Amino acid sequence: MRIAIDGPAGSGKSTVAHELARRLGITYLDTGAMYRSVALACLDAGVDLADERAVTDLAHGLAIGFEGGVDESRTLLDGRDVSHEIRTERIDRNVSVVAAYPGVRAAMVARQRELGSAGDVIAEGRDIGTAVFPDAEVKVFLTADAEARAHRRAVQRSGQDAATDPDAQVDPAAEAQVLADIERRDMIDSTREASPLKAAKDAVVIDTSHLSVDEVCDRIAGLVEKAREQGAQAAKGATGGQDAPEPASLAVEATQDIPDAAHIGRGKSLKAFGNEPADFHAAAMMDYPAIARGFYYVAAAAVWAWTKLWWHWEVNGAERLTRSSNGRGAVVIMNHTSMLDPCILVLSELYHRRRLRPIYKSEFDDKPFIGWFLTRIGSIPIKRGEADLKALREAQHALERGESVLIFPEGTRVKSDDEPVTIHGGFALMAQMADADIIPCGIVGARDITPRGHHLFRPGKAYVKVGEPMHVRKVRGKGRKHALADAERMAMEQAYELRDELRAQHPGRM
Ligand code: C5P
Repeated sequence: MRIAIDGPAGSGKSTVAHELARRLGITYLDTGAMYRSVALACLDAGVDLADERAVTDLAHGLAIGFEGGVDESRTLLDGRDVSHEIRTERIDRNVSVVAAYPGVRAAMVARQRELGSAGDVIAEGRDIGTAVFPDAEVKVFLTADAEARAHRRAVQRSGQDAATDPDAQVDPAAEAQVLADIERRDMIDSTREASPLKAAKDAVVIDTSHLSVDEVCDRIAGLVEKAREQGAQAAKGATGGQDAPEPASLAVEATQDIPDAAHIGRGKSLKAFGNEPADFHAAAMMDYPAIARGFYYVAAAAVWAWTKLWWHWEVNGAERLTRSSNGRGAVVIMNHTSMLDPCILVLSELYHRRRLRPIYKSEFDDKPFIGWFLTRIGSIPIKRGEADLKALREAQHALERGESVLIFPEGTRVKSDDEPVTIHGGFALMAQMADADIIPCGIVGARDITPRGHHLFRPGKAYVKVGEPMHVRKVRGKGRKHALADAERMAMEQAYELRDELRAQHPGRM
């Protein structure tokens, strides 16, 4: 569930979003704090704010994050707690200038999607419903007249709380100054070219001038409740209801949009130890605890050395094995011949400083150690033979964060050309849900490393070829199922074509 709250300065977004995050027990994302951090970093570094290029370059190199729960949330700029420094008048005066630069916005939006994609989130800002999470289930635009907003901000600055003390008094000169500042910021925010402040077409507009915080929260909580009910109904429709026979593959009978299922991870941050496997599936790989990341690199180095030594593998077109054009990850698919296949692609991506999360059949979780290991390297389990919405959502969120996923639609290792193969669908739906590309790949040479009936490895040479990215058409309604089936058929045909090209180039390799 994503809740987007937009509106101008002083409309009550922060107070309301805080209160709702507390009530609903979900992650709170203050996007204004991120633009404020960029302004602070520029001022501290002596960067001229009028120099768009310098500001944008600096913004791209910053590590902005949050720590602590809703009530004690702290903003971190390159690891330093800047929660107080970003709330000063100096930042108020300068933030809208840096927030207007498209390059700065691109960097912040990518990070916001990353932070918000691990689970349920309530995000507040200016462009959440229009640009950051345009598919948010609940979108609200808060407004209030400028005087009411200036009064609230001035009260807040004086250390009082307008929400609990409606009669709080402030110095009229200070309030006039805040009003002038708010009007100036509103003007820059709503007239800039990049994602100007405006209500999304499907947002519910609430004028908070004469409403209490509780009244506003109650209204939004009502919208959340309604969206959850609609979500549950649509999810039931998508899986055919409880009594429906199981489809033959993981393909979802999808003729409508699938909302977030209530059981999906809440995006809690990972602890150093004692995390549940589901926490690893839902979190961004770069947010894994240091020990898990260390383990990943050590394991990758060992597997790299071992596989390169034995099979001298090569990836042709690794530069195409990249993110989708819109910054999302890609759904990488390939024919499946041996356990070497995922190793090659994951290692090749790691070499190019990208993360590839294999999707594996959940049966592996029953085997000692394998499930543990797969989880630590970012893999996501999927239940075959049913519509596994949880896995679909986890993969969607990973893709939205810019992490790619790897799927073997053949479902199992195919050891000879005359073996009957069933293509397990669902990967086009995954790509469509995340607005990501599908990248087909073919592999040869890995089947030979343990031929049928042999358990010992044989040395050899394996080749992977990466195809062109394919975009899945956004079709809604009845045509969607056919569009997805077409996309899957074409992608698999491409994968087999790539494999056959490799066979022609390297005769004898299967
Ligand atoms: O919400 P807050 O007042 O902290 O935001 C500070 C400034 O950051 C805004 O005036 C606006 O210029 C910018 N901002 C933005 N987009 C967002 C959030 C904030 O442009 N999503």
